[in-house]
Amino acid sequence: MRVTVLRLGHRVERDKRVTTHVGLVARAFGASGMVLTTPDEKVVESIRRVVASWGGDFSVKVEPEWRRVIREWRGTKVHLTMYGEHVDERIDEIRAAGRDVLVVVGAEKVPAEVFQLVDYNIAIGHQPHSEVAALAVFLDRLFQGEELHREFKGRLRVVPSPRGKRVVES
Ligand code: SAM
Repeated sequence: MRVTVLRLGHRVERDKRVTTHVGLVARAFGASGMVLTTPDEKVVESIRRVVASWGGDFSVKVEPEWRRVIREWRGTKVHLTMYGEHVDERIDEIRAAGRDVLVVVGAEKVPAEVFQLVDYNIAIGHQPHSEVAALAVFLDRLFQGEELHREFKGRLRVVPSPRGKRVVES
């Protein structure tokens, strides 16, 4: 099961940091790629730099035609929103389907039609928080924690240590 994150409504400058974090969390928590609907070379470059150094198979692309991305997705389409059904009610069903998953996360107000275009509107609790947190929790529940044990074959690797920072280069 491959997961792609569709980042809707990115505002250049204002959302740069958060969108970069959406991409980094997507990669670190087991997604295979991110689609940005607003061109922003700086964001794309900074995610690609992390992939180049730390490895993994993660793609970033820009596709302004977000309706087409959702409509043409062959697999399960999930929109993360505080107004949706609680994640615990649907996550087993989404995983059991075994289909590739498109996860839509917003920045500013998400167009109402998104709620109709997807298969599931899923809430990570019903309080307002953040697309970064929502994505992390959703992916962790989808992969049942296994994503944090995946090996990324990159140039840099952390050697876990109880104190201090150890990074080796290969
Ligand atoms: N005010 C915006 C709206 O009404 O659509 C949402 C802004 S919120 C900062 C940005 C994104 O975070 C949302 O589009 C959604 O994807 C995600 N998000 C925030 N809280 C969430 C929650 N409790 N469950 C799922 N996703 C959430």
